[in-house]
Formats: sequence, structure tokens, C-alpha cells
Amino acid sequence: MTVVRLQRHAPEANNVQVCAVCGTTDGNSVTDHVQVGPPGTPTHDEGVCETCGAVLHRVVDRYGQQLTMLVNEAQNQPSDREITTPTRPPVQP
Ligand SMILES: [Zn+2]
Repeated sequence: MTVVRLQRHAPEANNVQVCAVCGTTDGNSVTDHVQVGPPGTPTHDEGVCETCGAVLHRVVDRYGQQLTMLVNEAQNQPSDREITTPTRPPVQP
């Protein structure tokens, strides 16, 4: 089971220089501690900035603790297989 455990305003994040989520290198903004993976043996154990921590916090507040999140990018461009209009014949000089 993968668990995301977020500790807001964690003292141990004080000496972390990079947010693991957005990549900001403003060490002063890294305030939170996130652990991702099986409880007790996290696969990821890293710092998160105030902004990213707040977003994660709000997502859980809004949708609940029992989250399984799947993220997909919307398709905004047709793929080659979906373009069905015939190509124009070459223009004759
Ligand atoms: Zn961040």
C-alpha cells in the first residue's frame, strides 16, 4: 500500500533546499516533510514547499484521506490515426 504522509511545518524540513514537488530551490520556502510509500519504509522521504504542502493538504481536506489518485493529461491534439480528412492533391503549376 502506498501512503502519502505529509507533515506540515516540520522542523526537519528546515535544512532541505529543494521542493520535491515543484522543484523550487528557495530553501526558505521548504517547510513540509512528505513521505511516500509503505508506512515505516517510505520510498520517498523529502521536503515540500509551503505552497505545494498547502495544495496537498487542501486536496485531502476536500476529497478525503482514502485517496487513490490517477493523473492523466487531456488530449487536446488529434493523433495521426484520428485525422481522417484526405490530404489535398498537389497543386498543379
Ligand atoms: Zn513546491
